[in-house]
Formats: sequence, structure tokens, C-alpha cells
Amino acid sequence: MSKEIVLPADFAAVLVAWQRQHGRHALPWQNTRDPYRVWLSEIMLQQTQVTTVLGYYQRFLERFPSVVDLAAASLDEVLTMWAGLGYYSRARNLHRCAVAVAQQHGGLFPPSAAQLQELPGIGRSTAAAIAAFCFAERVAILDGNVKRVLSRVLAFDGDMASSAQEKLLWRHATDVLPTAAADIGAYTQGLMDLGASLCAARAPQCLLCPVSELCRGRAEGEPTRYPVKTKKLKRGRRENWWLWLEHKGQVLLQQRPDTGVWAGLWTLPMFDDEQALLNQAQLVGAELEVMPRVEHALTHFDWVLHPRRAVLDSAAAVGAGRWVAREKLADYALPAPLKKLIF
Ligand code: SF4
Repeated sequence: MSKEIVLPADFAAVLVAWQRQHGRHALPWQNTRDPYRVWLSEIMLQQTQVTTVLGYYQRFLERFPSVVDLAAASLDEVLTMWAGLGYYSRARNLHRCAVAVAQQHGGLFPPSAAQLQELPGIGRSTAAAIAAFCFAERVAILDGNVKRVLSRVLAFDGDMASSAQEKLLWRHATDVLPTAAADIGAYTQGLMDLGASLCAARAPQCLLCPVSELCRGRAEGEPTRYPVKTKKLKRGRRENWWLWLEHKGQVLLQQRPDTGVWAGLWTLPMFDDEQALLNQAQLVGAELEVMPRVEHALTHFDWVLHPRRAVLDSAAAVGAGRWVAREKLADYALPAPLKKLIF
């Protein structure tokens, strides 16, 4: 049974003061109350480092200055701009969400977490972040970093694999919010900053932490035992074969289906086993060169790809492929490992 949780009364005040003095203030998506910019950054920052996001964020805003511009773009173009950021379902939801905002809300994001959460790809925590930053709504965020900070501060030992325990932590997260709506932006940013810096997953720097006096996990002497999560992700391994055909400076690409890994992206024709690839290569009379294998780690499995390359005398048809001139490849949404291979 979980132990009794005592909420530290000063937590929000200490965090707000620390954020105002020592937190991050110069990121390009800060110092704005424009929900489009905040939303874009929040989606990009899910599972991606700040340093990686910076360039993408800038390019997206240059190309799509408003949510209406993003809605008007084709999904293909959005995927192309997203290529390399990974987790492509985010890009598809980004586009769907922009279309919903443009068509159902007149191009304006709705001004409450509850309404924002109804939009495609906006989960409870992201909705709360947008509402807190842009509309000063007193509402709690609880992304991975914040779960870590709060479970440590509260010594919350509920199992994060259980949705009931997660709900309970949401409740505590709501109970420790600052009382003044004017503080909610600094507080939310403070939680994010603490989770991204001092309260690191493996080696939290408790001596430098502004809330160390209030932190029960630190007082117990073993903050890294929080958050508790019993379910371990089982990693699998997958192998595929890539047929890399070239003809007169063109590369043959195929578009992946709309669902599954790399959905909607363009890759080399892909086969489940080497024999299937060889059969296809034989049909188009290709002399294959064995290229070094490519290893790519995804959330649930490690992917080993075996490229086999051939230069053809004629532009043979392989399935639903498209011959693309090398100089045009940058216009296509290619997954990162393929870019690395062919550029
Ligand atoms: S005292 Fe340590 S464990 Fe507690 S919030 Fe700060 S860095 Fe994290």
C-alpha cells in the first residue's frame, strides 16, 4: 500500500522564485503567449532534445508563420520538414490539429486545457502547458520529467505503470499548484527546467536543487528510486532488406503505408527477407552490391536494415515505386538512417 503523501506547502513559491531567477528564459518559444508557437514547441519537444528542436522550430515558423499556413500545407510537405525529428505520428497529428484549429476554431486555439485536449495529438499534459503559458490557467502538467520531479519531491511510490496511481499523482500535481494564476507560467516552466537540469534521471544534483529542503525523496536518502515503474519495456529486434536502385542519377523510392513505423515517409523498397529482395532484383536484372548494414534504434525495437545496391541500365518498375532525381531527394520526407545512407 502506498504511504501517506504530505504536500510541501512552500513548494510552488520556492520553485517560482527559483525559475524567475535561475530558470531558462531565452528559448525561442518562451516570452510569447502565442498558443501556436507554444503548441509547436511542446509537440517537437516530446521525446526530442532542445538542441535538436531549435533548428526545426525556426524552419517551421519561417515556412508556416501561423497555424492557418500549416493547415493549408500538404501532409507530405509537413512530413518532409519533420524528417529527422523522429516519432512521425507527431507530424501527422500536428497537421491534423492545425486543420482542426483552422476549420473548427476559426484559426484560433481554444483558450482552455479542457478544449485543447480535444484536439488531435494534444494530450492532457501538453494541453495544460499551453493553457498555463498562454492563458494563465491554473492546471497541472505531468510529462515524464515532471513525473520524476514530483514523485521524488513527494516520495510518491505508486507504480507509474498503473493508471490509477498515475491519476493519483495528477491529483497531487494539481494540489501543489501555486494559488495565484499570475505565477502559473513561471511554476510550469520551473518544473520543466528542474526536470531538464538538476533533477536528472540517474544523478540528481540535490545539493544545488532549490527544493531540496522540501524533497522527501532526498530526505529518505535515495531519490532515484522514484518514480516507481514496474513494467519494463520489452525491446524486440527486426530485420529488413533495402533494395537501393539507381538509374541515370535517380533513386527508386517507395512511400510507406499510412500506419506503422515511418508511416507516410519515403524509403527504398523494403523486403522482409533477403530472398524476396533477390527475386525482385532478378526481375529487373540488377547486379547487387552488398552495403554495410544500418542499425537504427526505435522505442520498441532495434531495426537492422541490409541495403543492397545496384545501378540499372533502364528505369525498371518495382512495385509502386517512384524514380526521384538525386537533387530532388531533399524534397521528400526520408527517415534519418536513409538520409545518412544515401547522402
Ligand atoms: S532534491 Fe534532488 S531529487 Fe529532490 S527534486 Fe531536487 S534534484 Fe530532484
